[in-house]
Amino acid sequence: LPLIAVCGRPNVGKSTLFNRLTGSRRSIVGDEPGITRDRIYGEIEWMGRDARIVDTGGVVPDDEALIPAEIFRQAKVGLEEADAIVMVVDGRTELASPDLELARLLLRGGKPVFLAVNKMDTDAMQSQAENFRRLGFRNVLPISAEHGSGIGDLLDAVFEVLPEPAAVIE
Ligand code: GDP
Repeated sequence: LPLIAVCGRPNVGKSTLFNRLTGSRRSIVGDEPGITRDRIYGEIEWMGRDARIVDTGGVVPDDEALIPAEIFRQAKVGLEEADAIVMVVDGRTELASPDLELARLLLRGGKPVFLAVNKMDTDAMQSQAENFRRLGFRNVLPISAEHGSGIGDLLDAVFEVLPEPAAVIE
């Protein structure tokens, strides 16, 4: 199945988004050799198509100083294995330098990338998402992971770029 990776700083709402997208179809990756346990995989079905999704923020170190390094490490894993990447930012806070660096890394990576501006809970807030265009993403989508608004548009955009599963030949 195609894979979507969710990246971003702690507290922007990655796991809220992940839970909304996967419902109960999620798994904390277990003991399979060669698979790390610091990412959480789930499955999404959208418009009759299936994909896997990985929350790269599965485990965040307690030590604040390690957080930026960990975000980048996870984002690089996402760049390697995912077919599409969703960077999440908190639309209610100012951009910080880790956001800018992460955006630069992802935009250079050559994979389809989407910016989900989260916590845009009301219609009035949605226009604020435009402020985040300066990160350089072509696809900027206001969402509220908590309330569910904008999620359909985000999934429409992401699934459009995912590879179609190979046809089964009888
Ligand atoms: P993560 O660290 O990026 O995985 O972030 P979480 O999903 O744990 O969310 C961090 C905080 O933001 C939690 O208190 C969530 O309830 C809150 N949050 C997540 N999504 C939204 C949203 O759409 N609107 C609002 N107002 N809060 C949200």
